[in-house]
Amino acid sequence: MFAQVIIDIAHSAVDRVFTYRIPDAMNISLGCHVLVPFGRGNTPKEGFVLSVSDGTEVANCKDIIRAIEPYPVLLPSQLELCNWMKSVYRCLTVDALRLMIPAQLRGSKVKEKTERTIRLKDGLPIEEVIKGLRSPVQRDILTFLCNLRTEISVKDLLAFFPKSSSAIQALIKKGFVDSGEHEVFRRPEYGLSKDTAFVPTSDQRAAVSSVCAAFSEAPQTVLLHGVTGSGKTEVYLECIEHCLKMGKRAIVLVPEIALTPQTVGRFKARFGDGIAVLHSKLSSGERFDEWRRIRLGIAKIVIGARSAIFAPVENLGLIVIDEEHESSYQSESQPRYSAIEIAQKRASDEGAVLLLGSATPSLLSYYRAKSGRYRLIELPERIQRRPMPIVKIVDMREEFLNGNTSIFSDALTSELSKCLKDGHQAMLFINRRGYSTFVSCRSCGYVHKCVNCDISLTYHKSAQRMKCHYCGYSTPLPQECPNCHKPFLRQNGIGTEQVEEVLQELFPSARCLRLDTDTTSKKGALADILRSFSLGRADVLIGTQMIAKGHDFPNVTLVGVISADTTLNLPDFRSRERTFQLLTQVAGRAGRDLSKGKVIVQTSAPAHPIIRFARSHDYVGFYNYEIIERRKCLYPPYSVFVRLLFCGEDEKRLNEYGTDFAKQLEQRLSAQSESFDAPTLLLLSASPAPIAKILGQYRYQIVIKLLRTKNVSSSLSLIYDFGKQDGCEFTPNIEINPQDMF
Ligand code: ADP
Ligand code: ZN
Repeated sequence: MFAQVIIDIAHSAVDRVFTYRIPDAMNISLGCHVLVPFGRGNTPKEGFVLSVSDGTEVANCKDIIRAIEPYPVLLPSQLELCNWMKSVYRCLTVDALRLMIPAQLRGSKVKEKTERTIRLKDGLPIEEVIKGLRSPVQRDILTFLCNLRTEISVKDLLAFFPKSSSAIQALIKKGFVDSGEHEVFRRPEYGLSKDTAFVPTSDQRAAVSSVCAAFSEAPQTVLLHGVTGSGKTEVYLECIEHCLKMGKRAIVLVPEIALTPQTVGRFKARFGDGIAVLHSKLSSGERFDEWRRIRLGIAKIVIGARSAIFAPVENLGLIVIDEEHESSYQSESQPRYSAIEIAQKRASDEGAVLLLGSATPSLLSYYRAKSGRYRLIELPERIQRRPMPIVKIVDMREEFLNGNTSIFSDALTSELSKCLKDGHQAMLFINRRGYSTFVSCRSCGYVHKCVNCDISLTYHKSAQRMKCHYCGYSTPLPQECPNCHKPFLRQNGIGTEQVEEVLQELFPSARCLRLDTDTTSKKGALADILRSFSLGRADVLIGTQMIAKGHDFPNVTLVGVISADTTLNLPDFRSRERTFQLLTQVAGRAGRDLSKGKVIVQTSAPAHPIIRFARSHDYVGFYNYEIIERRKCLYPPYSVFVRLLFCGEDEKRLNEYGTDFAKQLEQRLSAQSESFDAPTLLLLSASPAPIAKILGQYRYQIVIKLLRTKNVSSSLSLIYDFGKQDGCEFTPNIEINPQDMF
């Protein structure tokens, strides 16, 4: 027998299978993790068996050294998924494979943790044996084991018989007890939430039965659009229960940030130890063991962040993706996969239902639901008809003209003061994504936009110019506002620290916590901050988009959005969508008891349709507005953006190369369009990247906008092939619909 093995080295030169002979006594099958001699020096290397065959054309095959684990670490369905990812994302097979196993498995960095156990030997004439023993401790232990009848860990036994290690040893030596080992799983700790058995509302019941009906039909995607607080989680739990009843298993994805003890506790309360949790803050041992519990079928429900979509779940019945609009489901490193795309592929290959849930579905998902590709289920009301929170919009231009130059409006300051005086809590929300600063007028709110793209321009300090990241258009920074001719232009971008400073000046005695990537990088820090806040150890929580979802703080009566404009004016075609989502989610946070509370949104564009839709919690209104805007400018879902990024030390050479590359690529794409008899290419621009230099490396980008038609995948293939030719001076990094271009 022979095995086709992919070597665990991420390099295009070895991105193919090598054939090895399987020694006769060795038990090797598809998906096994093996050690093989590799290269001229026959260095032992790890690899994965992609297929097994009776014969081979390859002469002089070397022998596999050994299997590293006694079971296949990859399921056949995962191997198929790897192949698919390789063709769609153009990644190395190994890159895809590595997503499916814990990093600790490779190089055997973590071992299974075992526990020594002992049990009474079978068939002993027990009474005689006990009588024959002189040591009373040994006699007691043997009697104990005789009554116990099962295996017990040495550690537990020592709890009953302290300081009796030598007695146990003696019993083993005399052959009266057998010692053995069994694996113990290192499990992350999670608090247990109460599982309140609700009577589902009729909307919830309808949603569950609609999903359950899908179980017995062809695999499909269901979009659950339910306002914040409409009880979506309860629907997930019920659907999972049905899934388990059919003998199937489930994967639940939540944004990393929602993986707080609260959320997991709710699942644990319902399903007990049948769950496994995967996220980035686990220790190596915990991650390894949770993965093994899934692989061995001990855990039937996997809850995790993005990469948990690759969990080795057999017999998959349901995949739930909560907050499906979150950008964290898109991987920004190689391979650049979308967890939703992977989920769709798995669901259709493995016959499962994919349930996407959100209060603010991504435009793309809602578009698909509207056009019949997804089944749409709506939960239009909050549980118990609780009212939606009241959102007050504050016009920051007026504040400025009235002499208030602070980042806190008078309304926010006075609400804060009231809230603190009453002993309630507040959340202040700022959103700053990426690098960029747009330029706006403090007096009239005018924002500079690109003449070609309807995208706000970004200020480049070194050049004193404003530039468009999509088409490369640029213009000098004007001295005054072109709209109102006042000299109050400023670059925007407020940080959490700045908000904290201002807050402390205004309210020196307020206890304040900050939640952003700086304060939460340490393991457990995020959970600690949230716990402190929920225990009332702070009055104000300041945060980035992290605080927008997943937390329930009953004592919060005020939510402030410092500036809705920061997201609204990002140089990104998704900025309106993201703003609507963020405002809706933030308001939903304040949520449950907000009949007594308030949401204050500060903005320089109070009349902007997006702000108005967010104030009235009108998702459908937002969708109808935005989809027309997208069609007007041919933005996704009507098109696909591709960015090719070149990096190099020689700026001049990089520019020449990039410009030339762009010209040739454009010709190829146009030629292909002609052969399709249909246009595909909408725009192709080449220019230095928004951040033109990082760590001594110059950056040059080509941005391509393709019309989304049935030909788009051929165009993408062409771009990939053209970008990855052998022997090129620069190889571009290719991103499809990148989240942030910098
Ligand atoms: P969503 O995920 O849609 O924001 P949740 O699932 O968190 O909403 O539910 C909102 C609140 O309503 C939670 O506190 C939950 O415990 C409660 N809840 C959910 N379903 C019911 C029900 N059928 N009856 C009463 N309370 C419910
Ligand atoms: Zn432009």
